[in-house]
Amino acid sequence: MSQKSTIEWTDATWNPVRGCTKISPGCKHCYAEAFAERFRGVPGHPYEQGFDLRLVPEKIVEPLKWKRSRMIFVNSMSDLFHPDIPDDYIVRVAEVMVSADWHTYQVLTKRSERLRTLLKGKLNFAAEAIHIWWGVSVEDRKFGLPRLEHLRSSPASTRFLSIEPLLEDLGAINLDGIDWIIVGGESGAGARSMKPDWVRKLRDQARSQGVKFFFKQWGGVRKSENGRTLDGKTHDEFPSLFRIAV
Ligand code: SF4
Repeated sequence: MSQKSTIEWTDATWNPVRGCTKISPGCKHCYAEAFAERFRGVPGHPYEQGFDLRLVPEKIVEPLKWKRSRMIFVNSMSDLFHPDIPDDYIVRVAEVMVSADWHTYQVLTKRSERLRTLLKGKLNFAAEAIHIWWGVSVEDRKFGLPRLEHLRSSPASTRFLSIEPLLEDLGAINLDGIDWIIVGGESGAGARSMKPDWVRKLRDQARSQGVKFFFKQWGGVRKSENGRTLDGKTHDEFPSLFRIAV
């Protein structure tokens, strides 16, 4: 958990779960794993167990204690819908999101089938809360586009896609029912490259389909050298429901 985040599209991170396991090509250079494994074996460190998945129940109530409204990325160091996290624990996390409604929550997963099942079932009480945004990761066509369909068929007031790292041309995509897309390239050692035309196609499809577009970064081995402008402009749109001033 951190009350501040360097991630361009959020204000703070909240991690009532730590650790995860890889599920698709977008996970190859998982930043959360790289960070967590640096501290494996360090006594008393929050990541003493590296990237092994574990629940952190004492963190669940944290948003209730943050009085100033924030945009909060839920589980930046894990995946809330990982199969090893019990349904009841996810329900407790959602209960806090519903209660601490002065914040905006961004919940992002690669386990989109479980997201859909729970939003139709045990999480239905939180599905359409306007301050909770539900999203899936889309890194390629094979793994990412089925997640888009799972999200589209889930009850939610705000749906978003994190298209990062963008690994190939996604082609023509149907953004019906989607409110916001975030696009970015991979960064760090071994970063896979992203072609400008792949990004332009997504920008243009977002525009033509009335979807908000946020371009996060080009990425690369030294991401600060590559910046985050596309055709001379930054693209920092957010869903239009509201944007909380912080
Ligand atoms: S799902 Fe996310 S947190 Fe989990 S391994 Fe993949 S990239 Fe990392």
